Amino acid sequence: MISGPAEAGRYMSTLRTLSRKARSLKEFARGLTDTAHPLLVQIIPIRRCNIDCGYCNEYDKVSAPVPTDVMLRRIDKLKLGMIAGLITNGYFLVPKRIAELNAAGLDFLQISIDNVEPDEVSKKSLRLLDKKLQHLHDHADFDVNINSVLGGGIKNPEDARTINTRARALGFSTSIGIIHDGSGRLKPLASVERKVFDEVSAAISGPWQVLKNLYSGISGFQTNLADGKPNEWRCRAGARYLYVCEEGLVHYCSQQRGYPGVPIADYTTADVKREFLTAKSCSPNCTIGCVHKISYIDHWRAPQTSEVSPGSHPLVNIQTGD
Ligand code: SF4
Ligand code: SF4
Repeated sequence: MISGPAEAGRYMSTLRTLSRKARSLKEFARGLTDTAHPLLVQIIPIRRCNIDCGYCNEYDKVSAPVPTDVMLRRIDKLKLGMIAGLITNGYFLVPKRIAELNAAGLDFLQISIDNVEPDEVSKKSLRLLDKKLQHLHDHADFDVNINSVLGGGIKNPEDARTINTRARALGFSTSIGIIHDGSGRLKPLASVERKVFDEVSAAISGPWQVLKNLYSGISGFQTNLADGKPNEWRCRAGARYLYVCEEGLVHYCSQQRGYPGVPIADYTTADVKREFLTAKSCSPNCTIGCVHKISYIDHWRAPQTSEVSPGSHPLVNIQTGD
């Protein structure tokens, strides 16, 4: 028997969590048995950003948002019933907006927090965002992951530990990413960074964390990146992972825009099958965590035998983020 609004809220929240886990398991099983469909699509609703992180090449200051009806058409093409996630810098998260996201059925939200105090490289800072994290803790029905980063000009590696500890204290899952420096080079982590990386990684791969968020627990590729070594893996961008830009074009990822460059409305199962088997020459030094993670489900099968679009220039990593 439910005795009051607070208990009813907790009951609904548990039901939503169970539904999310059930849908995740169903998608996981479908992903294992069939390779001819995407598992993760990053779809851009607006190119404009209200801040200007020094390592980022993904924003401008002028673009209008994609009209809602156009966004809905693009999402419909991808199929209903998906797990819905939102990546945000968190600046606009207030209780009312979190309630709207609950009502809209959001499943998952991620914020990358780069440092404790804002500086010229990043204003995605714990001090500025801590109140938003508290709001999420108090009001969100969806899963929350807090990502912290090392490399890329981030000055105080210890900040990643502080951010991670705070996020876990609030009950969120966490991840840690290694980003290139401003010139796009992948360098081994310095010893202070490496110590933080090892400690945070150990906390992230614990059973509690993996239970909370299996996806964020896939992080083996980061060890090679931490050593400045390439990874040998099969990037399934264009197949298991799609990046749909504000123009509605499908690209491999944020850093390889232009390939294949086909409108989502015209993207077919044949495109997915082709890209599944296409080797990406930029893969050895790639730091894009979400593509590494989603590609992991197929790491054991289907060696890639095709080259990227005949006649195109080699893919080069210019810079990477989430
Ligand atoms: S990393 Fe995110 S918050 Fe920072 S400028 Fe780029 S899009 Fe904006
Ligand atoms: S940059 Fe990374 S995610 Fe993008 S196509 Fe290359 S290997 Fe794949």
